[in-house]
Amino acid sequence: MTLSPKLKLYNTETRHKEELKPLHGNQVLMYTCGPTVYNYAHIGNFRTYVFEDLLRRTIKFFGFQINQAMNLTDIDDKTIAGAIREKVSLSEYTRPFIDAFFEDLKTLNIEPVEHYPAATDFIPEMIAVIQKLIANGVAYEGGDGSIYFAICKFPRYGCLSHFNIDELKVGASTRVTSDEYDKDHLADFVLWKKFDPQRDGDIFWESPFGKGRPGWHLECSTMAMKILGDTIDIHVGGVDNMFPHHENEIAQSEACTGKIFSKLWMHSEHLVVDNKKMSKSLGNFFTLRDLLSKGFTGIQVRYMLLHTHYKTQLNFTFEGLEAIKMSLQRLQDFITRLQEIAASGTEAGSSSKIANLIEEKHVEFASALGDDLNISIALAVIFDLVRQTNALADTGAISSIEAVKLLDLLRRFNEVLSVLNFEQQAPTIPEELQEALEKRLQARKDKDWALADRLRDLIVNSGYVIEDTPTGARLKKCST
Ligand SMILES: [Zn+2]
Repeated sequence: MTLSPKLKLYNTETRHKEELKPLHGNQVLMYTCGPTVYNYAHIGNFRTYVFEDLLRRTIKFFGFQINQAMNLTDIDDKTIAGAIREKVSLSEYTRPFIDAFFEDLKTLNIEPVEHYPAATDFIPEMIAVIQKLIANGVAYEGGDGSIYFAICKFPRYGCLSHFNIDELKVGASTRVTSDEYDKDHLADFVLWKKFDPQRDGDIFWESPFGKGRPGWHLECSTMAMKILGDTIDIHVGGVDNMFPHHENEIAQSEACTGKIFSKLWMHSEHLVVDNKKMSKSLGNFFTLRDLLSKGFTGIQVRYMLLHTHYKTQLNFTFEGLEAIKMSLQRLQDFITRLQEIAASGTEAGSSSKIANLIEEKHVEFASALGDDLNISIALAVIFDLVRQTNALADTGAISSIEAVKLLDLLRRFNEVLSVLNFEQQAPTIPEELQEALEKRLQARKDKDWALADRLRDLIVNSGYVIEDTPTGARLKKCST
């Protein structure tokens, strides 16, 4: 089915919803900032990654192809400090966190993307970008031997955060070497950080500017341009990536190529816990693994992370997660009911009612997602479908063929949501019937045929048959 609704996405830079029109035919080039692999990602990080997965799946739902890169930040202040603290090599330090990250993505049904570049694999390309920036007159060596980007040479600086560079009175002498800083410390940022044995142990790379290592911001610019091209369609990250990380990516990339780096920028809001910022000191800090160990499933956590619109702050509570469990169960019960109708061979249909409902809900679902991923409305469309279909099913007005078509629609929705399970669940046998089966076995052993017959009648009248198998008798629900 071709969808008439358009896919519109909110662009942080222009502050408008814009229709997605890829630069190259039907293929969308997308770069998403990945994890810094110095510890286990927390549920706030995964809110962003689940949002990016929802975006990726929606883009495909609308019929586009996608070529996406998500980087692994294995060189930055935190990974280097961690390796030195643990007295291991950088790769020995980051490997377990990289493995854990991929395991967590799988648990959350996050679809693998096409490229996962690690910063350590792109050092020569990063050095080449710095050389180009020096040649273009926007990068210089500071007194400390590190190479910096001169933000005053890039008039578009601040275009995402919408601040005016002139008002900030940046002095030429103001420089920042740390990977992360806030707007109060706006300054020329580091492209190549000179090696310091005290701070860096023996972690460094050789370059024409001396021993050192690339700045975090440069890593993403370089890998995005190298893998996807000078100009990409969409660049995505959490809202905390907007400044300084994405501002710096724009400055480096555009000052290097003279071309627009990304046509569209998207940022997801924070996750808070009980309306408070998540922090280890407050005891409200959770990794995915913490929630799994409390008995929740990856699917429940995924649903929780995606059910609030990405531009709204998501307030995580355990009560909320319990409610999510109920919502998911309701959807699973609906699937089971449709599967039963589909298997029942019912022919009496509801004329055109179901066909119209399927068409209507498909369009409504697509329109909601097409409106900057309005997930709340998209989910409301599904629950409305459940309510209307259940009411029709109560009157026996749904045929097996219609049930199959409804299941197909849910499968289509699930291409985006990836929270539903369509495997046929083995029917649970009521406990009293299981007991009756065991008592009947005993009655037969005791040659109490009258009791054995009564128990058989109870089982048969409850809609079950007794099947003899090599491992003994068992109950099976009659199909009619
Ligand atoms: Zn990045």
